[in-house]
Amino acid sequence: MNTPDYQLIIVGGGPAGLTAGLYAARGRVKTLLIEKGATGGQVLLTDWVDNYPAFADGLSGFELMDKMTAHAERFGLEKKFAAVESLDLQGDVKKVRLDSGEELTAQAVILCTGAKPRQIGVPGEIELQGKGVSYCATCDGPFYRNQEIAVVGGGNTAIQEAIHLTKFAKKVTVIHRRDSLRATAILQEKAFAEPKISFIWNAQVSAIVGTESVEAVNIRCNDGSDSVLPVTGIFVLIGVKPNNEALPLDQLQTDAEGFLLTDSEMGTNLPGVFAAGDIRSKKFRQIINAAGEGANAELAAEHYLGTLPV
Ligand code: NAP
Repeated sequence: MNTPDYQLIIVGGGPAGLTAGLYAARGRVKTLLIEKGATGGQVLLTDWVDNYPAFADGLSGFELMDKMTAHAERFGLEKKFAAVESLDLQGDVKKVRLDSGEELTAQAVILCTGAKPRQIGVPGEIELQGKGVSYCATCDGPFYRNQEIAVVGGGNTAIQEAIHLTKFAKKVTVIHRRDSLRATAILQEKAFAEPKISFIWNAQVSAIVGTESVEAVNIRCNDGSDSVLPVTGIFVLIGVKPNNEALPLDQLQTDAEGFLLTDSEMGTNLPGVFAAGDIRSKKFRQIINAAGEGANAELAAEHYLGTLPV
């Protein structure tokens, strides 16, 4: 049997993958991190990070991920920027096929492919994407200077980004399907104190309307009443779905939504295959959790490889 190309391949370069890569590089494990875009993952879409320990003054998502990337590089982490098309994770040699057709092999794999924003699935959403429908306030916020916009959702992302959007927009209306927010208390306090933010409670967007670009959203309240909110932009920030398209879902165990099931040491159902970060089935998605899981997954991988005593 040919020797695998690497001891360890990490798929995905967000906080989980970069931390796994840092640990692997320091452990002198022959490792390749594969990332299809820029390293940093979803954090790059976050305007400001105020809850990553040791950065007491906060920092931008971009800056945090730039630091994480530089940290792993300082110890010599090898990276490849390429899209993974498929994986075969059964057996002792794990195969990673890139969209270029190149196939790489490793003894162990850590899956850190993360998650992406969910859609609301209403008429107009697909048609008007990029024409007023957005899933990234950091990317698209500056287009809405002095305009009236809507945010859908009541979680940390929706409320944090609604606050961020007040830097640009004249008015931000948060549309939430219940009468209380899921977001953490400090974000709620900030949002309630922000004069540019108003709320429509117990309501859902039923359609996004516009010809060339978004002109309004139709709203259906839980009591059955309908209304129209004129806006030029709508930010849909209602949670995430797994980036699992390239993963062999016939080999890996997932939850009903397609997130990977792992044990407490980040091991999947397959020997030598680990998962960390937002691709895992879990309740709390935080940058610090993803980084911690990346460290844990790499140490578990080293146990599997026999480079660390059990
Ligand atoms: P989330 O916590 O799952 O919240 C999703 C929000 O969207 C909820 O308020 C939910 O309503 C609403 N929602 C879900 N489906 C909907 C639908 N079809 N129509 C209308 N509303 C819908 O998602 P998230 O805010 O994107 O956050 C994802 C993860 O990242 C979370 O674990 C979050 O804590 C974390 N995160 C943390 C920070 C931070 O710590 N600063 C920042 C951003 C994200 P219900 O409340 O009624 O379920």
